[in-house]
Amino acid sequence: MPNVKHMKWWGWGVEGVGFHHEDKPGMAPFVIKAIDLDLNEAPELSVDFDALDIPEPKIGPDLLALLTDIVGADNAISEPMDRIVHTYGKSMRDLVRLRNGDIPRVPDIVLYPADEDEVQQIVDAAVDADAVLIPFGGGSNIAGSLEAPPGETRPVISLDLGRLNKVIDVDETSGLARIQAGALGPDLEEQLGQRGWTLGHFPDSFTHSTLGGWVATRSSGMQSDKYGDIAQIARGLRVVQPGKLLVLRPLPGYSTGPSVREMILGSEGRLGVITEVTVQVHRLPEERVVLGYLFPSWESGLDAMHAISVSDATPSITRVSDSRETGFSFATRKKKPGFSLSSMISKGLMSVLEKRGWDLDQVCLSFIGYEGSKEHVARQKKLVKDIVSKHGAIVLGKGPGELYDQKKFDTPYIRDFLLDRGAAGDVSETAAPWSQLKTLYYAVVAAANSAFDEIGVKGWIMCHLSHSEHSGACLYFTFAFKFSQDDPLKEYDVVKQAIQQAFVDNGGTLSHHHAVGVEHAPWLAEDLSPAGAELMSGLFTSFDPKGNFNPGKIT
Ligand code: FAD
Repeated sequence: MPNVKHMKWWGWGVEGVGFHHEDKPGMAPFVIKAIDLDLNEAPELSVDFDALDIPEPKIGPDLLALLTDIVGADNAISEPMDRIVHTYGKSMRDLVRLRNGDIPRVPDIVLYPADEDEVQQIVDAAVDADAVLIPFGGGSNIAGSLEAPPGETRPVISLDLGRLNKVIDVDETSGLARIQAGALGPDLEEQLGQRGWTLGHFPDSFTHSTLGGWVATRSSGMQSDKYGDIAQIARGLRVVQPGKLLVLRPLPGYSTGPSVREMILGSEGRLGVITEVTVQVHRLPEERVVLGYLFPSWESGLDAMHAISVSDATPSITRVSDSRETGFSFATRKKKPGFSLSSMISKGLMSVLEKRGWDLDQVCLSFIGYEGSKEHVARQKKLVKDIVSKHGAIVLGKGPGELYDQKKFDTPYIRDFLLDRGAAGDVSETAAPWSQLKTLYYAVVAAANSAFDEIGVKGWIMCHLSHSEHSGACLYFTFAFKFSQDDPLKEYDVVKQAIQQAFVDNGGTLSHHHAVGVEHAPWLAEDLSPAGAELMSGLFTSFDPKGNFNPGKIT
């Protein structure tokens, strides 16, 4: 077996690690109030690998022998566990289907090539044999980007890039690093860090996603305000295609027609296998700090983030939660009991808020990050303080920011915790120009609440703004409800579809950074206009007329 790290087959992260509420006394009262779910009741654990009915691999002996010959027997795996791990990503739909044993098309074989040459041989063999090839990074996508079409009759190969995990070289003059596409976030940051560099790309899924996956899904990290999305970070690419290698050099700019680099970005395996990415890297900052702020209302928080985005200030993170997400953040704090703001903050701060006449149910928590030299950080903090003060904010200081920094990669475990208890907790995110953000926000909340009413459940929706740009920002919604029927995905679809539809009806995109896959594809023509969707599908069919490369996605 190759030495490649994978997440647990049924959920997020590593086996043995999960979310717990016992050390967060505010959580249980919050959850019962929000979605009528009693955390003190025993969970209905329903994950049993042995209960899965896993179809036998369907791959002919000639193709099997050829593929095994390319990577070696140790790196051509048909074991049930490996095949299941490579069947889906980590969307709510994926997690529920795995728990229900709903796995109609499992890859027939998982291949772990050692280098680009082996990838080329696999691609050529797969296309010659008219097989389906699905590149696999960390398996963390939440848009249905990995699953084979349910009725696929051809052999399905999952091509796991996990052994291509090295930082090859750093051009210290240009700040450009050549990195193999299968490198997981922590592995590549460790290798870069040893040389004094950072990529600065930290999605919430950082620990279990790869550079190639980030490129193939147009990912965005929480520090995108400073470092950019992966679309800005990825400068050069090497992509294996049938019989050839696409090589795009890391140029600072070019005027060579429509961007081929941009075609590969977000292509979800449909235009070949990315083997290497040249990324822009930055010197590790001398200082890094995240400060917490409190705003009197959501509107004042949004206005402040907008004002920062068009000012001289250049923070690395700008994030503000609505009042509901603020309540949730306080409820998941460790140790201190209660879930109201008054039980969470100091008496001194409380009296300041009272003096200002703030409505405690409306306050919104914000995190703003700063990186760079000490002087730069000091100046940025001052610039931001002047702006947020004009919008009525109070500076909370480093404490809440440090807490946010510590917790940020633990949050994904909550979805499994809720599923164990018969509830959905999921996310949908969008982006829109500043002029439309407030209307969009209220429309999405209203659409979700109507959907909760339609299925007759007590639901919860909360939001934060992040990833600010000069012209707009991302709104990231989290929603939760307790399933009331035997078919949870039916209920989930009503809510998810209402939210996605509200995005495109109100000036937002179907996704700012979670890609299209099969789950967001129904809104593609509304997002791009029918002419745009037509161009996109023309690109895929002309490159891949027989649909060998991850068919059915972004279409
Ligand atoms: P995979 O899931 O393995 O694959 C995704 C797609 O890319 C598939 O279509 C696959 O075929 C293709 N692909 C993968 N590698 C290659 C390659 N080398 N060549 C060609 N195609 C390839 N995303 C964000 O951007 N920001 C976030 O903050 C964020 N937070 C998340 C939090 C949670 C809890 C979860 C579950 C997901 C989150 N995501 C986030 C989504 C997900 O992590 C991203 O889409 C990520 O970029 C996927 O990378 P991966 O390596 O896991 O790719």
